[in-house]
Amino acid sequence: MLGALGHAPFIYFLSAFPPPSAVPNPNILRFSLMAISARIAVIGDVHGYWDLQEDSKALHLLQPDLVLFTGDFGEENVELVRSIADLKFAKAAILGNHDAWFTPCFSQEKKDGVQLQLECLGENHIGYRRMDFPQQKLSIVGGRPFSHGGKAMFRKQLLSARYGVKDMKTSAKRIYEAAIGAPEDHLVIILAHNGPTGLGSRADDICGKDWDYGDGDYGDEDLEQAISKLKENGKFHVPPLVVFGHMHKELAYGGHRKMIVVTADNTIYLNGAVVPRVNSYYGEEGKVRGNFTSSGTSCSQSVSRGTKRAFTVVDISDGKVDKITESWISVLGDETSLDEAHLMYQSGISKF
Ligand SMILES: [Zn+2]
Repeated sequence: MLGALGHAPFIYFLSAFPPPSAVPNPNILRFSLMAISARIAVIGDVHGYWDLQEDSKALHLLQPDLVLFTGDFGEENVELVRSIADLKFAKAAILGNHDAWFTPCFSQEKKDGVQLQLECLGENHIGYRRMDFPQQKLSIVGGRPFSHGGKAMFRKQLLSARYGVKDMKTSAKRIYEAAIGAPEDHLVIILAHNGPTGLGSRADDICGKDWDYGDGDYGDEDLEQAISKLKENGKFHVPPLVVFGHMHKELAYGGHRKMIVVTADNTIYLNGAVVPRVNSYYGEEGKVRGNFTSSGTSCSQSVSRGTKRAFTVVDISDGKVDKITESWISVLGDETSLDEAHLMYQSGISKF
């Protein structure tokens, strides 16, 4: 962090992202105890791209109040999940289909990869649960773990043994019940591995099937049911924001997915699956030149001189989602800075 203070792009960072805690909004203090200000950093599908030290440096620059992980850490990569559990920021995570890659059913005899990952995450695993953050007046509600989208429930036996969930209807009820118990003055944010149905069926739609001919809506119908029941129920507990991953930004046959949808009733659906979420910097400073070989030709080898790492940053102000930005943080040794910021949503602006 100290290193970042002397780094020129950090000035831009300050103007682009004033950390809520650093710039108190007098309106929030004056008018309402219900008004909240918070920053959430969403880390979409990790797929192996995680380094506790490097990601911690980037997060120290972003200063989020809360970090949300949409799952797919690896293929039951217990060590990686343990390292995520060690992150020193408030966090919530949900396991994805890749996190139950080798474990179709629950075993009482031995600890499988799913069990070990759940033990690592402990209270931070949000599946069918709610975590309340009274200071920020936020409640995070978890969707169905291990989801891979579509009509069938992936890892049905596991869901039945671990959560008593046997079908979509029960699953929807469990998500709904977790949300409905949230304190009335909290903003409810849903965190799921995959998004809901009903947001489009083109390959490039936010939950559209892109890996096979014929497109199709590959969202989760239980999540759509739970959200629509919350909306029917009235003004409290209606999620202003639903965060998920699973469907990667980069499409299987080229092009990019739509990563944000704002519905007519102002619910924001945010897909955070920017994959891969880490790129390495190569360049003159990082280029290592080898010795001349016996044949007299030179060889050279490029080594990474650092990385840039993706986070989707959600700023909440006055109890509303104010801004969402796909942000790439450069980490070069101990120096961190904002390398790229792509505005995805700004309150009051409908088109980007
Ligand atoms: Zn997935």
